[in-house]
Amino acid sequence: MAAKTYPLLPVEEAAALILQHTAPLGTERVRASEAYGRVLARELRAPIPMPPFDASTVDGYAVLSTDSSPRRQVLAVITAGRPVATPVAAGTAVRIMTGGPLPPGADAVIMQEYTRQEDGTVVLQRAVRAGENVNPRGADIAEGQVVLTPGTPLGPAELGLLASLGVTEVEVYRRPRVAVLSTGDEIVEAEQEVPYGAIRDSNRPSLMAAVREAGGEPLSLGIARDDEDVQRRLIRQGLEQADVLLTSGGVSVGTRDLIKPLLEELGTVYIGQVALKPGKPLTFARVGERLAFGLPGNPVSSLVSFEVFVRPALRKLQGHARLHRPTVEVVLEHDVRKTPDRTEYQRAIVTYHPDGTLRARTTGSQASSRLLSMVGANALLHVPPGQGVLPAGTRTRALLVGELLTA
Ligand code: AMP
Ligand code: MG
Repeated sequence: MAAKTYPLLPVEEAAALILQHTAPLGTERVRASEAYGRVLARELRAPIPMPPFDASTVDGYAVLSTDSSPRRQVLAVITAGRPVATPVAAGTAVRIMTGGPLPPGADAVIMQEYTRQEDGTVVLQRAVRAGENVNPRGADIAEGQVVLTPGTPLGPAELGLLASLGVTEVEVYRRPRVAVLSTGDEIVEAEQEVPYGAIRDSNRPSLMAAVREAGGEPLSLGIARDDEDVQRRLIRQGLEQADVLLTSGGVSVGTRDLIKPLLEELGTVYIGQVALKPGKPLTFARVGERLAFGLPGNPVSSLVSFEVFVRPALRKLQGHARLHRPTVEVVLEHDVRKTPDRTEYQRAIVTYHPDGTLRARTTGSQASSRLLSMVGANALLHVPPGQGVLPAGTRTRALLVGELLTA
């Protein structure tokens, strides 16, 4: 089986083309308690105001701010959750605790620290402004206000907000199911003994974890030998069970590289190579509504290709408003050698310095087989094609793929 020849696409063009072929999956209703990490599909308006009543923000006395007499008769005590209907008028006050609903008539709360108690009365030691220490009904959130927009991922703050508004079910996008297949006659399971000439499958665990991080549900298709029928069967199986198929290996120009011709046979291949190092042989196809990515076999190439091309697509499938990682400008801490013909994404560690700069140093040898170049990396450094080096001190772009460090 021989593959067609494909134009070498610039990275941005290939990434944009993939997103053109990607549309959000359907939605489903889930309980808010199960919705962590899901992406909201519908705008949410507050069904009630927050706070739902005028609430005291301190422990003190609810009073009338226009009353100028320093001494007030204490009529009742309000604790959080225990309102009283006793109205406050001139010459009176109601003792109130933080979170307690203001009694009728009162328009301010004086902090306990500015008062003195004297047999059944309270003496105010300073004047009180209208509204002092009161969080008025609807001050945090007005009734009907849009509080969450579609495409928002539900994290701790969002889930707390839903609960406070009494929203116990939400409509979210379906998570993409992603079938992951490793290929290669030399590839064996991690728990297996490794015969001479074989290597353990590191791409499947890497890619399945990357799928999970991107919000997808990974599904293992195992390892396929470099055999046309075996690979065709597993590719078909993956495309039946999942929304997206990820294969690794078998997309180069070797005699046993079968993924491109098989995807040509089953669907339409839109991308056959990209001007990226590592990851040149990236392949992207559509089979009906399903997406198929043929990622390169080298462990670093497959992960970098995932980051650049697959992750944004998985986020688009699940309706995320933000598809891309942030790109920042960094200052190189040392010389970086360029590659003549391709943009290189060097794995780097970016650190924030007290002078306000982000500084980058690479993770050492950038061989595409060297998984250690990915370990601890929080950025992919854009190294434009060319001769020679980018000297230390050069400013260049970097894609932040992990947590920023501080010096
Ligand atoms: P290929 O593109 O199939 O020629 O693979 C390129 C390189 O990546 C070869 O050295 C393979 O042994 C290696 N490789 C392919 N698949 C995997 C995998 N699943 N885990 C680790 N290395 C792999
Ligand atoms: Mg192979």
